[in-house]
Amino acid sequence: MKRSKEELTEFISRMQEQQQQLFKQAKQLELTPQSMKTVLYELCENIAMIMRADRVSIWLFNDDQTALTEHLTYAADSIAIPIVRELNFYNAKLYFEAITSQRVNSVDDITTNEAFQSLPSNYLVDTPITSLLDASIIMSRGIGGLLCCETVKRRNWTKLDEVFIAAFADMLSFVFDRLNRLEMENRVHELAYTDLLTGIDNENAFIEKVNDKIHKTGKELFGAFLYMKIDQFTSIQSVLGQEGTKESLKKIAIRLRSLFPEGSIFARIAFDHFIIFTEHSSDHEKDENTMEQILSELRNPIMISDQKLFLTFSYGVSLYPQHVTDAYEGIQAAKIALDSSQKMGNRKTRAVYEPLMYEQWEEEMHSEMNLGKGLDMNEFCLFYQPQVESVTHKVTGVEALIRWQHPEKGLLSPAAFIEIAETTGHITQIGEWVVSQACQQLKSWEQKGLGALTISVNISPRHFLHYQFPKFLYSCIQEYNIDPAKLIIEITENVAIEYSKIVELQIQKVQNLGFPISIDDFGTGYSAFLYLQRFSIQEVKIDRQFVTDIENDPKSRAIVRAILTLAKSLHMHTVAEGVETIGQMKKLEELGCFEIQGYYFSKPVPIEELNSWLLASPRFPFLYLPIPPA
Ligand code: C2E
Ligand code: CA
Ligand code: CA
Repeated sequence: MKRSKEELTEFISRMQEQQQQLFKQAKQLELTPQSMKTVLYELCENIAMIMRADRVSIWLFNDDQTALTEHLTYAADSIAIPIVRELNFYNAKLYFEAITSQRVNSVDDITTNEAFQSLPSNYLVDTPITSLLDASIIMSRGIGGLLCCETVKRRNWTKLDEVFIAAFADMLSFVFDRLNRLEMENRVHELAYTDLLTGIDNENAFIEKVNDKIHKTGKELFGAFLYMKIDQFTSIQSVLGQEGTKESLKKIAIRLRSLFPEGSIFARIAFDHFIIFTEHSSDHEKDENTMEQILSELRNPIMISDQKLFLTFSYGVSLYPQHVTDAYEGIQAAKIALDSSQKMGNRKTRAVYEPLMYEQWEEEMHSEMNLGKGLDMNEFCLFYQPQVESVTHKVTGVEALIRWQHPEKGLLSPAAFIEIAETTGHITQIGEWVVSQACQQLKSWEQKGLGALTISVNISPRHFLHYQFPKFLYSCIQEYNIDPAKLIIEITENVAIEYSKIVELQIQKVQNLGFPISIDDFGTGYSAFLYLQRFSIQEVKIDRQFVTDIENDPKSRAIVRAILTLAKSLHMHTVAEGVETIGQMKKLEELGCFEIQGYYFSKPVPIEELNSWLLASPRFPFLYLPIPPA
């Protein structure tokens, strides 16, 4: 179909206008699929006019490109919207191949087109289509969908038509990429703030909501933090098993919510621990009565699969602004009050926080967990867990994980002492010890011909932000003569985003020395995606939580895909943690994750074990882990 010069000029200016409008809409922060629908409908109408088509539709692929679903259709009055709104790969193989293998799929006559004939026969019911022109919507994750123009009368599509439709499809790519990205961010946010088991808030959300309330109301607020613990939890677990325990926690969460006044804030904070922030009247007697009433209601039995469960609770209380200044302190003080009350027994205990309790707690921690002595006596050691390149399964490095060979308690995992080390301030010394150990190990490997391996170390936020941390790292390069590119510094996203300027400067200082930075437990913190956009970082480690369900849960898979896409666009390296099965590994490889770490290949092991294995590797110095049997 010939077009006059005037006509062409007009079309191009219309297209530009359309593009302008789309970009303006798509850049809005509150962009939703709903808010975009009207704009997209208008776009399709305009496309129909410019292309002289009778029907223009947008179709979107599912994650693995096995289904194509209609998103929106503009149809001229003379023609109906097709009744088939979803096409399945298995019923329309040739058509799927045609549209995914070329930029534009141009069909002048569908009756003679083999690929089109593979569509279900009812696609054409009521719609006498003769010609069609499809252009793929190319998104950052691959072909995401299709823009489809159809005409009743036969058309010989020209090169110009193909150029036009491809240009329109590119406009759509931008819009859908942005919509996808926003959806992922919302999902990650939801996961970062929700306790997946009970569906109520988790600690992150609790801290943020309470701090917000404190910030808005200030010192006029009379707030109480209640740290509650179920007394009979161990027996519930042994009697009811995993499912029953989950069920009972859910029911308890619902009951707690119904008993406290509206506006109270709740979270499940550890396995059987709940934290509540509620306003109080500051009339001591009245508050105590209210609490008694709540506790007696809580004692009413809970039904779990025909069994009556009688539960009691213990709790500690701290008050705002009397004892604490924010949510984090509130939780800690209420927990200390609870712990202190439990010295009197382990059922139905309660206590209100007193400053003396903190001193006692600190003293106990110091004497029970004598970290200083542990360091002096050389009781710590590092275990190493290999990290393996995706697909080739070549070992590229290890993560160093600390253990404490405690003289009385035996081999302790970091969970037993890192938090205490952070409170008592020993964490800096521990971190320095870990880094020095790792440097010595790198040097020793270099001498053994294993100089290509990297070591990742975990540095706690407080240590990372310490003004002398870069200076310490510099002294290590000097002392051990190592290549800093081989020592990866892992930090979590919770390295306070509020102090982002300080974080940014510190990240830069460490990177300027040549050390790569990796974000650990990615996706579980406050502001995962924001973090990546704000700071320039070398690596992300996808948290185990998303890896565990990657085979069965489309949500986890979508999140992993989103993280990988974003990381790739920012040229970041990616590692998946906690990979335990071949299925999880395959899925991660398919999604394009660079490296895999987890029990599937190896648990963290002592250095002797790792070394004997590395040096015995048949293809030394290229190290391939033997693949465990499926
Ligand atoms: P992380 O940095 O996320 O380390 C990964 C943890 O997951 C390790 O636990 C590791 O043993 C475990 N893990 C690895 N693969 C799998 C798997 O396939 N399945 C399962 N279920 N678990 C797996 P670990 O060694 O107990 O360390 C726990 C946390 O303690 C670490 O989490 C890290 O945050 C912290 N940590 C460890 N070493 C240090 C250290 O030297 N300094 C500091 N500040 N923190 C450390
Ligand atoms: Ca780590
Ligand atoms: Ca981790």
